[in-house]
Amino acid sequence: PLTGAWATAWMTLSAQVVSARRAELNTLDRDIGDGDHGENMDRGFEAVAGKLDTLPAEASPADVLKLVATTLISTVGGASGPLYGTAFLKAAIAVGGLDRLDPQALVALLTAARDGIVLRGKAELGDKTMVDAWTPAVIAAAAVQKDGGDVVALLRAAAEAADRGAVATEPLVARKGRASYLGERARGHRDPGAESTRLLLRAAADAAD
Ligand code: ADP
Ligand code: MG
Ligand code: MG
Repeated sequence: PLTGAWATAWMTLSAQVVSARRAELNTLDRDIGDGDHGENMDRGFEAVAGKLDTLPAEASPADVLKLVATTLISTVGGASGPLYGTAFLKAAIAVGGLDRLDPQALVALLTAARDGIVLRGKAELGDKTMVDAWTPAVIAAAAVQKDGGDVVALLRAAAEAADRGAVATEPLVARKGRASYLGERARGHRDPGAESTRLLLRAAADAAD
């Protein structure tokens, strides 16, 4: 069941994965940005990991997501800090009050996160941003829910769709963020924020196994 303990495990795993992939995220960002995306994400999720045990044992998924949001907003800096911060804040609001998340609540969580990023950053699908990983994940999650799939199947489908979405940013020209200054030279490089989104959604599925 997807309880507060799942949300905590998701964030612990995210911190581990972001730390392990820090150099790779920096390299992606060096190619089409300013080279700090791994650093930014690692700083933020290390701070998150350090705060998780301040939560009470009965913390709800929304309590965890709210803590993540405020921590990322205050520690990440860069474009990705407010974007992920808004995503987790909107996700928290979407599942507020629930002690465990069913497929419908999970779809609401993912949709609210994606909508928060779009509200904040105004990127559309195909602009070569993290939205290109989030939107396919939301669509895949909604399809699994409609088919009556369980939360584990839903999170796996979302993670796989985010994987494909991140890869699909490679041939694109960027229309938002620092990479948009590069024009045609951004082609052939994966968007770092789409890659970090893929890692976070993979961690969400792994934490549910
Ligand atoms: P900065 O560009 O300020 O150094 P980061 O390197 O941490 O910040 O994050 C860069 C990532 O942020 C990009 O790869 C992209 O996925 C995402 N991003 C930037 N601008 C936007 C936007 N307007 N909407 C959605 N995502 C964005
Ligand atoms: Mg950067
Ligand atoms: Mg920067």
